[in-house]
Amino acid sequence: MKCKICGKMGEEVEEGKEMCNRHAEAERRLREHFKVWAERTGLGWQGYLEAIVKNERTGTLVKETATYLLQNG
Ligand SMILES: [Zn+2]
Repeated sequence: MKCKICGKMGEEVEEGKEMCNRHAEAERRLREHFKVWAERTGLGWQGYLEAIVKNERTGTLVKETATYLLQNG
């Protein structure tokens, strides 16, 4: 099984999961932060991900994950 984002293969990607631990953790944090964002801005998931991708302060890992989620729901 390969990570769908970085293509990394091997033990790091657990059985039944689509991403390696690093990207899975980034996704978890993205989804968690979205609740706060949605309450504050009233914007949806798509708008949130776009803002994350555009934000220069966003880390590479999170940016990669947000880009992936934008393209794949
Ligand atoms: Zn990965």
